[in-house]
Amino acid sequence: MLSKSVASAVSTTLLSHPRSAAYFGLKRVSFAYSNDLVFTWKNSFFNNNNNKFSLKTRKSSRMESNLVTKVSASAQPLKNADELIDSVETFIFDCDGVIWKGDKLIDGVPETLDMLRAKGKRLVFVTNNSTKSRKQYGKKFETLGLSVNEEEIFASSFAAAAYLKSIDFPKDKKVYVIGEDGILKELELAGYQYLGGPADGEKKIELKPGFLMEHDKDVGAVVVGFDRYFNYYKIQYGTLCVRENPGCLFIATNRDAVTHLTDAQEWAGGGSMVGAIAGSCQREPIVVGKPSTFMMDYLANNLTRPLVSNSSLMSLFNDRFGISKSQICMVGDRLDTDILFGQNGGCKTLLVLSGVTSLSMLQSPSNSIQPDFYTNKISDFLSLKAAAV
Ligand SMILES: [Mg+2]
Repeated sequence: MLSKSVASAVSTTLLSHPRSAAYFGLKRVSFAYSNDLVFTWKNSFFNNNNNKFSLKTRKSSRMESNLVTKVSASAQPLKNADELIDSVETFIFDCDGVIWKGDKLIDGVPETLDMLRAKGKRLVFVTNNSTKSRKQYGKKFETLGLSVNEEEIFASSFAAAAYLKSIDFPKDKKVYVIGEDGILKELELAGYQYLGGPADGEKKIELKPGFLMEHDKDVGAVVVGFDRYFNYYKIQYGTLCVRENPGCLFIATNRDAVTHLTDAQEWAGGGSMVGAIAGSCQREPIVVGKPSTFMMDYLANNLTRPLVSNSSLMSLFNDRFGISKSQICMVGDRLDTDILFGQNGGCKTLLVLSGVTSLSMLQSPSNSIQPDFYTNKISDFLSLKAAAV
């Protein structure tokens, strides 16, 4: 049986996929699913070549009627930040477009984070960018003059390793990585054997007659993230592992369409690498980054750090109760990852307009994802009573 967090990640992967949305015939509505949706792992782990999961309903003929649909209310401009701050105990911040833009800190961020910490709020920083590990992100925060613990950072590189741990991925199996250094570092920390990554960036294939590429039969998972050194060798190697190794998992750190390598234009994101492997394998990946709820479930289940240090009573409270999702506010600049991530996780959501989403995009009739609130930037928390947008 799948663990709750794994089932949740899988469910989000399925339900958030455009094809699923098309299948369910939902347009301009957000949707939740009832407990009647049951996820089953068709075959035991690594015991079968197919390793496919199935989505079944107890009463499959009523699948659509079991889905609870609701029309999203329009987002409200944040007018009373105090009220929002007081209503939650944890803020999850996306990084790029919220905390920084490229290598530049967004105005007022240090003061805002200090204020939230002074109010006893727990802060978590989540990013779909898998090129860095938590430690490497910690250095970036430090360079920008922000004091953030590694434990407060959740990058999708870490999520990939955490996911493998959550399913007890066998330590004698290997992970083939299509991605950069961050994924390798996190796999290493989690004690997994890996191959690929930057080392395969220069590799080429000589297509002479009869050429056959060998691959490691012990690879039990292919992890795909953003990779600036993506090439045909990696596509073929990953494809062979997924298609030919019994039970081999196909894991994506994210499916972001675009990313911001420079501030001059949008660049093809991790979704392009994932799409190549999905195309050749004819399989959809298990997505562990936003908007999948895997990271949210992980946070809710594993963050038990006391809000007040050196308080044994508070420590005891948090150890016993963890984080309630309704006590979390997800803050991000992107609708289809950050805000959807928060909504999928049952959290409050705040869109900031300091990144990729403009007010006109939010209010466009073609946009169906509406956060609870929106504001210009997180330092509007400091003007509090009437953050003007
Ligand atoms: Mg962002």
